[in-house]
Amino acid sequence: MAKTIIISNRLPVQLQISKEGITALPSVGGLATGMKSVHSGGDSVWIGWSGLTDEEIPEGKEKEIDKALAGHGSLQVPLSKEEVDGFYFGFSNRTVWPLFHYFLEYAEFELKNWEIYRDVNQKFADVVLEHSEDGDTIWVHDYQLMLLPDMIREKRPEVTIGFFLHIPFPSFEIFRTLPWRKEILMGLLGSDLIGFHTYDYERHFLSSVRRLTGIEVSYNEIYADNRIVRVDSFPMGIDYKKWHQAALKHDSPKSSEQSDLQKRLDSHRELTPEGKLLLSIDRLDYTKGIAKRLHAFKYFLDKYPEYKEKVRLIILAVPSRANVPQYQLLKSEVDELVGRINGEFATVSWTPIWYFYRSVPFENLIDLYTSSDIAWLTPIRDGMNLVAKEYIASRTDQTGVLILSEMAGAANEMNEALLINPNNFEQIADTIYQAINMPIEEQQARNSLLQNRLERYNVEKWANDFMTSLKSVPSKGVAN
Ligand code: UDP
Repeated sequence: MAKTIIISNRLPVQLQISKEGITALPSVGGLATGMKSVHSGGDSVWIGWSGLTDEEIPEGKEKEIDKALAGHGSLQVPLSKEEVDGFYFGFSNRTVWPLFHYFLEYAEFELKNWEIYRDVNQKFADVVLEHSEDGDTIWVHDYQLMLLPDMIREKRPEVTIGFFLHIPFPSFEIFRTLPWRKEILMGLLGSDLIGFHTYDYERHFLSSVRRLTGIEVSYNEIYADNRIVRVDSFPMGIDYKKWHQAALKHDSPKSSEQSDLQKRLDSHRELTPEGKLLLSIDRLDYTKGIAKRLHAFKYFLDKYPEYKEKVRLIILAVPSRANVPQYQLLKSEVDELVGRINGEFATVSWTPIWYFYRSVPFENLIDLYTSSDIAWLTPIRDGMNLVAKEYIASRTDQTGVLILSEMAGAANEMNEALLINPNNFEQIADTIYQAINMPIEEQQARNSLLQNRLERYNVEKWANDFMTSLKSVPSKGVAN
């Protein structure tokens, strides 16, 4: 029977090794949720890395791990520490990530890392080939596996392959700087369908194919060998119900059920009833514009001093890729900026910035989303930005203002938010002022439209739309 095979760098399960044995717990991330309808029953399997390197797996435990993963419909691609360093931390995160987010100056072009990336992609392909057969449908995810579609196609032409890129695809002028640009394009062109979050990323990709490969492109179709490769945009949504219902439950808690964080937030509101809370949540990543946002906040306080002691910025920066040097530098920069701004503006009763460097559990994210008057998200580049969507979904009374960078993929679908250019401090300061003073009716009118859209185009719809489109691509039998 034909199967569906999902492939991503990481499996949607967390392995835990203890004295009692090995357990695999399902992850709760957006991708895992969205794929539920695709990855269900006995006719689908998810292939990926378990998160533990060969060196971290206790001797003789391999079979037990395979069994624990199989219980979740998962199959692992074992990787050594050297492979993870070169493939994931190396080529994926020090070459592709910065380049595709327009941070050309951060992109390292190391031959060794490229070779490991290629070899690891081949390792994934070998596992897929071993477990697939003609007629299967294969969905490959993201920038760590861009060579995989062609590696699979070469050995098994009679399968249907979809690829989705979760980060931006840059303009040709940026992409052309990559020494292995053609290999990456040819790798992707092994697919029948290539999906992006936005029409712009799709356009950039088609332009690179046209200019670098000489292969014929017509509208959103590429004529590779005797196949059609279709390219389309599928903006990823969130599990709207999960966020909205958790927020509804949160709105009527008995006080004993409140988290410590919520109690702090409430006491802040009691002390300054006319005060406003601004919230920003991101991984600590240079693409997210956290340092710029801090500079812009200082600019706002200087331009509108009447809001001193009235506005507080909560920054939740989630630790990320801390072994990559740029991330360490960024951490010091943000630490220092927060200290400097708090030092300059704080009074005995007011600290302008609350800064948390950690990840928080789901319940606390709900506390933050439901308690903040304004969500202020200013990435310099961002494939999508799900935090923006989660904030809106959590606003059950439809109040709240979203200020969002126009450089985030989400901005394309969230026109009712206040869209800003993250480099324009004057505009940002004025937009914060506008957000603080926005009448409730206007907030509700904007959020009602946003919520309707997010509810309709949720993550499950995203996954189903992609699969439906993948199955309808007339890939075979095109005349040469
Ligand atoms: N998030 C989380 N724990 C935290 C803070 C954030 O799990 O402490 C989640 C958040 O709910 C969102 C995701 O991390 O789903 C971030 O996704 P986004 O698309 O905004 O950015 P990415 O990190 O993927 O670049």
